[in-house]
Amino acid sequence: MISFETPEMVDQVRNMLHSMVNNIVRPIARYYDDHEHERPKELEAFAPIMQAGMGGGGRKSAKKEKKEIKATDDRIGANAISVAGAEEMAWGDVGLMLAMPGGGLGNAAVDAVATDEQYERFGKKYCAMAITEPGCGSDASAVTTTAVLDGDEYVINGEKIFVTDGDRCEAVVVWATLDKSKGRAAIKSFVVEKGTPGFRVEKLERKCGIRASDTATLVFEDCRIPKTNLLGDPEIRPEGGFKGVMATFDATRPLVAAMALGCAQAAYDFTKEILAKEGIIPRYDRGTLELSAVERDLLWMEAQLEVIRLMVIRAGWMADNGRPNNLEASMVKAKAGKYGNIIVQKCVELLGPIGYSRDYLLEKWMRDNKVNDIYEGTQQIQMIVVARRILDYGRDMLS
Ligand SMILES: Cc1cc2nc3c(=O)[nH]c(=O)nc-3n(C[C@H](O)[C@H](O)[C@H](O)COP(=O)(O)OP(=O)(O)OC[C@H]3O[C@@H](n4cnc5c(N)ncnc54)[C@H](O)[C@@H]3O)c2cc1C
Repeated sequence: MISFETPEMVDQVRNMLHSMVNNIVRPIARYYDDHEHERPKELEAFAPIMQAGMGGGGRKSAKKEKKEIKATDDRIGANAISVAGAEEMAWGDVGLMLAMPGGGLGNAAVDAVATDEQYERFGKKYCAMAITEPGCGSDASAVTTTAVLDGDEYVINGEKIFVTDGDRCEAVVVWATLDKSKGRAAIKSFVVEKGTPGFRVEKLERKCGIRASDTATLVFEDCRIPKTNLLGDPEIRPEGGFKGVMATFDATRPLVAAMALGCAQAAYDFTKEILAKEGIIPRYDRGTLELSAVERDLLWMEAQLEVIRLMVIRAGWMADNGRPNNLEASMVKAKAGKYGNIIVQKCVELLGPIGYSRDYLLEKWMRDNKVNDIYEGTQQIQMIVVARRILDYGRDMLS
């Protein structure tokens, strides 16, 4: 029989994190929104518990287990648990979730691409992810940062912008080209640790939302790193070479979708609670024509949230079971990015002044959720990926 219930283990993680973020993260959310660039010290003690709850403690085992699982397996592992955890953390606060020491987007890249030896070295470091450059955003293959092999070291030169956690992280996963003339296949990811000579944080962004999270411009000038810091395969392989680094997105996109979901769920829960105090409670046992317009809006939002939740879990579950999830990762990122924003804006609309007032967090959630439709590939880019997958088109046919 088909079951549309979320797995019990996923619900357990969600319940545990829910009460933790409600008590620890929510109360400080406004303060760090108002104090951009101030490091949230409250999170330092709390981070290891959160990371373990999100499946972070299971990364190592998940990586090792990857070799043993078969495509026919059906199990819940670190990926499904991580996305459920990300939803709950984002329900608490998206910016503070990103500011949580220990688990940046670069960690997902390490998980996806690193060898076992590299995993031992970098798996526990707090890693940011640096792809975007002044002249390269949606088209990640336009990367101009270079990595030139010199003896046992790569020499990195270039500039990366809008790097989440770029200031507070311990290391950055940097996308750079080994040889611009060889195109996409020559793009590899490299781990550059903080404190490496030639690597500096140039500037911090002032942002509309997720203001608790630092977003930095990073500069690499003749920055030398051990050649063993190149993640994955160092060979330039014209066939499928770029797929290695792109595999990172299959892990990070469901996480970002989960963050959009958590933020939208927060807005929905708040709106439902306020409306209930006014006696407006959606009736689940009535036909559409008997419901008020507000009830219909609430039920529509609830249905969308549930669809996104099932899609997020599916993308994570596929990764846990060794199934390619490129299509599903982009599908849920597009869906959650778009509908996450529609839902938060609808909540602001339904509550009027309460939605817009800084006395409540709803206006902040509207600002925060926008970024989930931008980074790790905009909604438009996800739609292109989905169309390519479904139609079996290459980049030359649809870009
Ligand atoms: C707060 C924040 C945090 C970020 N964190 C990180 C990070 O940690 N690491 C990192 O590397 N980057 C990060 N980014 C950068 C982010 O990933 C890019 O902004 C994003 O990929 C879009 O690139 P771009 O800004 O250059 O926009 P562009 O690529 O110039 O796109 C501009 C617009 O055109 C649309 N567009 C582009 N190409 C097409 C097409 N072919 N068809 C249809 N529409 C198209 C886009 O959807 C978008 O709406 C962050 C950005 C923000 C705002």
